[in-house]
Amino acid sequence: MIYETEALILNRYPYGDTSIICNLFTRDYGRLSVISKGARKLKNINSAILRPLQFIDLNYYYRPKRNIQLLKEATINKHFFQTHNSYKKIVSSYQVIDIMNQICKIENPNEIIFRLVKRIMKKINLCENDKIILYKIFFKLQLFKYIGYQPMIESCEICNNKLENVLFDWGIGQLICTKCKTKNSNINFSSKHLKIIKYFSNTHIDNIDQLDVKDEKYLHEIDKYLLYFLSFHIINVKYLKSINFQI
Ligand SMILES: [Zn+2]
Repeated sequence: MIYETEALILNRYPYGDTSIICNLFTRDYGRLSVISKGARKLKNINSAILRPLQFIDLNYYYRPKRNIQLLKEATINKHFFQTHNSYKKIVSSYQVIDIMNQICKIENPNEIIFRLVKRIMKKINLCENDKIILYKIFFKLQLFKYIGYQPMIESCEICNNKLENVLFDWGIGQLICTKCKTKNSNINFSSKHLKIIKYFSNTHIDNIDQLDVKDEKYLHEIDKYLLYFLSFHIINVKYLKSINFQI
């Protein structure tokens, strides 16, 4: 049976003398591995099409008991020309697919998350370099929402008092107030950080770039906190290769 779907290429590796195996995050079937036979032969265009970060339209021969499905045809669905010309954009986009590569193993992906990933990659592709951080934050907050791990930013996880000046606690993986500080607490947040996180949670992706933050430091601290949160609750960020690249 031939199946058809749209997919984001997470990674690829050579197989045998001439083939390529790709891990994909697909719109309709979640994680999927396909083999493209002969893709590394000269004149085979699949070698250029099947690259990480690429969104493709895909046809494959589906067999229920096969772990790796056989690719019939792939065409590029969306080009990210600007991304490929910017080191900062490539690394940021890789962080998105890195996270998806880890999450797809333990979560049932769905179409909403697929659309989120695609939108984020489109935004990163077209935005100014100093706006990339906005989409990295937006992506993580939305993803947490969709998979049911939203960070608590209103009240202290320990005493339940309203949060103003806060710390991230490594022991419980949540924000706490300064009075409840433990030896596991780090990252000092002010009420300004919390205000910015709230803005992200209540703003449409198309309006995120209107956020006026004079001091970029806040955004980088928030992004770091979201990585801590991701690491505590969902996946260990040490598995994310893109984290090692400084941007
Ligand atoms: Zn407290």
